[in-house]
Amino acid sequence: MDNVIIIGSGPAAHTAAIYTGRAELKPRLFEGFMAAGIAAGGQLTTTTDIENFPGFPEGINGQELMLRMRQQSVHCGATIETKTVTKVDLQKNPFQIFADQTMYESAAVIIATGATAKRLDIKGQDKLWQKGISACAVCDGALPIFRGKKLFVIGGGDTAAEEALYLTKFASRVYMVVRRDVLRASRAMQNRVLNNDRIEMLWRSNIIEAIGETQLTHLKIKNNQTQQEQTLEASGLFFAIGHQPNTDFIGNQLELDENGYIRTQPGNTKTNLPGVFACGDVQDHVYRQAITASGTGCQAALEAERYLSERNEQ
Ligand code: FAD
Ligand code: NDP
Repeated sequence: MDNVIIIGSGPAAHTAAIYTGRAELKPRLFEGFMAAGIAAGGQLTTTTDIENFPGFPEGINGQELMLRMRQQSVHCGATIETKTVTKVDLQKNPFQIFADQTMYESAAVIIATGATAKRLDIKGQDKLWQKGISACAVCDGALPIFRGKKLFVIGGGDTAAEEALYLTKFASRVYMVVRRDVLRASRAMQNRVLNNDRIEMLWRSNIIEAIGETQLTHLKIKNNQTQQEQTLEASGLFFAIGHQPNTDFIGNQLELDENGYIRTQPGNTKTNLPGVFACGDVQDHVYRQAITASGTGCQAALEAERYLSERNEQ
């Protein structure tokens, strides 16, 4: 039986592995094999340079950063399994974790399976992904290719509103493309975007094509009401149409919030089941950054360590 099993392989999982490894808990980490459509290493493996992770003043390639985290986990004593967890039984004591037809037992579990940003299936999307198209304005918005340019955000929720406001710092103009004639965002965020004269709303609209050879240059946009199409100059398109937390393997064994994120107690990573902790984007729909994922990975490791020592004392 393991002391602690960590499920996931992004910054949260590896930070948890580094801390539990250094605490001599001999963690076992399941990094997944294209789990939820993402390579081991998580969302950062799908991007280019990370410029906001402390310690890398010139920025660092996302895959390189995750490779280094993986090496550090191994160096600190973690065993890494390149397997996707397909099922867990959290009612059993010890907990049971299933991967590749094998069952593993563990006294504590840390879930760090992240979330997947939803993408629109539009023409030109694959070709221009990360060449003007992004799913994270806070991550990419400050890049030189977006400065002083016309930038588009699709979505009408709080994320879209936040991203549009953030992009006004860099863009010549920001357009919010909203499929209905109302925003889903909270009243406060609605007021902020609707009263910002640098943001223009394109109501009842959908993007149908991203155009550009090596870089995004234009977007074809269709009005859902009039069916009229127009092609507008665009240097950036940011998807803000929601995220899907990767929790399928949990079933209904843990409390999730209304959007499917694992519910953790305020200020810590404890779930509703003692001994099961959740960290990173799988429990955070607000910040969704590598550094915050790492921060909660550290918390989960320290909380798991405390849980195990209290359990051993009893
Ligand atoms: P994730 O990175 O989401 O990784 C989770 C991993 O767990 C995945 O590899 C997945 O395959 C694996 N997994 C899922 N289910 C299972 C399973 N059942 N069994 C085993 N493994 C499983 N943040 C920044 O701070 N700076 C940036 O510049 C930045 N750029 C970004 C660019 C893009 C395009 C995207 C999409 C995100 C970006 N982010 C950035 C956000 C950042 O990537 C996330 O906040 C962070 O990666 C979340 O880390 P995590 O540890 O929660 O998990
Ligand atoms: P939401 O699910 O709230 O909003 C998604 C938006 O994208 C909606 O406007 C939706 O339109 C639109 N959309 C979805 N699919 C498509 C599509 N195929 N084409 C066009 N538009 C589409 O996701 P968010 O990420 O904005 O927010 C998730 C949760 O996180 C919410 O609870 C939110 O309040 C919270 N959050 C809070 C923040 C804060 O407190 N500061 C910041 C960010 C998020 P429609 O409305 O028509 O369904």
